[in-house]
Amino acid sequence: MSDCIFCKIASGEIKSDIVYKDENVVAFNDIAPQAPTHLLLIPRRHVESLQDLSTKDRTELVSNVFEAIGKIVATKLEGGNGYRVVLNQGPDAGQAVPHIHFHLLSGRVFAWPPG
Ligand code: 5GP
Ligand code: ZN
Repeated sequence: MSDCIFCKIASGEIKSDIVYKDENVVAFNDIAPQAPTHLLLIPRRHVESLQDLSTKDRTELVSNVFEAIGKIVATKLEGGNGYRVVLNQGPDAGQAVPHIHFHLLSGRVFAWPPG
């Protein structure tokens, strides 16, 4: 999508601190980190939100993202003490960017419930 900031990050049009990329997924450091490690994982294809995933997306796109999370945790993160994966769906949950994205946070203790 032409005016989507995350599409521009995925294509390289906007510079970001990319830590992982493959054919389907890009992961980069959040500009306003909420933990010592705070990555955003996005599918390269523009999908606005969970609500817009097709049945095929639920098995393929979501699985591609979790494959990437697995690789990042195994190779780039100290995941042994735990980490948090978050998706904010819609305005009440604080979704600010309408390109589906998963937050991967680690390096501190996270409260539960999250508030
Ligand atoms: P949301 O609130 O939509 O779940 O999360 C959006 C996230 O994107 C926020 O954590 C915010 O800091 C991050 N973000 C917004 N714009 C940019 C940007 O231009 N570059 C990077 N790296 N992160 C961004
Ligand atoms: Zn997009």
